[in-house]
Amino acid sequence: MTAPYTLAVHGGAGTIARGQTDAAPYHAGLRVALAAGEAVLAQGGSALDAVVAAVQALEDEPLFNAGRGSVYTSAAQHEMDAAVMDGSTLAAGAVAGVRTLRNPVQLARTVMDSNFVLLSGDGAEQFARDHGFEAMPPGYFHTEHRLAQLHHLQNAASAAMQMDHVAPLDETRKFGTVGAVALDSAGHLASAVSTGGMTNKHPGRIGDSPLVGAGIYANDQSCAVSATGSGEYFIRACVAHDIHARMAYAGATLDTASGAALAEVGRLGGEGGVIAVDRQGNIALPYISAGMYRGWVRAGEAAQTRIFED
Ligand code: ASP
Repeated sequence: MTAPYTLAVHGGAGTIARGQTDAAPYHAGLRVALAAGEAVLAQGGSALDAVVAAVQALEDEPLFNAGRGSVYTSAAQHEMDAAVMDGSTLAAGAVAGVRTLRNPVQLARTVMDSNFVLLSGDGAEQFARDHGFEAMPPGYFHTEHRLAQLHHLQNAASAAMQMDHVAPLDETRKFGTVGAVALDSAGHLASAVSTGGMTNKHPGRIGDSPLVGAGIYANDQSCAVSATGSGEYFIRACVAHDIHARMAYAGATLDTASGAALAEVGRLGGEGGVIAVDRQGNIALPYISAGMYRGWVRAGEAAQTRIFED
């Protein structure tokens, strides 16, 4: 049986000042990712392959905080996290604190096919070399605007003499993490997510993105979810699994479940958003911030992208 496919992507949530930057390149980046994922789905490919293809395109676009264009740690380095999850088997793969991978989502996919779920740091890098992944030089990930954000944040912190107490927040409060969720024509769901984390984060800090149940979840019984926002809060609220649980155990709709899970993040003091698709192909793209870079496409329909409500 084949059913119409559905794909949604995000390029991060946050307080994005309307009119402050040229939005066109962000829309274009989201469209490239939708096209990459849709090319897989339109040929009858799997949701898993589609979300990996979409996220890979976003990792290669330096405007977003993943792969090339990732934010800097407080030590002016890059430490990236990524994950994938297959809703048909509950197989998952994730990497945390990787420094040389052009496409961390590809390594997460390879981890998924191993005996492990989550590999970090040097061990993840070693696993990458063992599986033939090329090590990119640090300069590949560098972007001037991300380095300027780090310096701005560190200067502000040092001026306030509060360096030890400054939370690793992006000074523009843009969470540029990227992600994708899909329903394929065989009725299977999958999710992927990839991030550089938060500007000025402490070396070794790991956010919600590579943690199954926090920043990512997929289960054919209910939905596929990919999150973006202040990771510490998404971890504490187990956001992605919470959305699944509300649907599977309490019979909530995708909209109600994702709204309620995000409300809990807000109650704790966090902000951000999720993209989610259910097994009927319904899409929910809620966020509790001024905007969220997002896009979606369904079989036979034109792709759509948005940043703000309209
Ligand atoms: N959720 C990510 C993290 O905390 C940040 C983001 O969404 O941009 O690492």
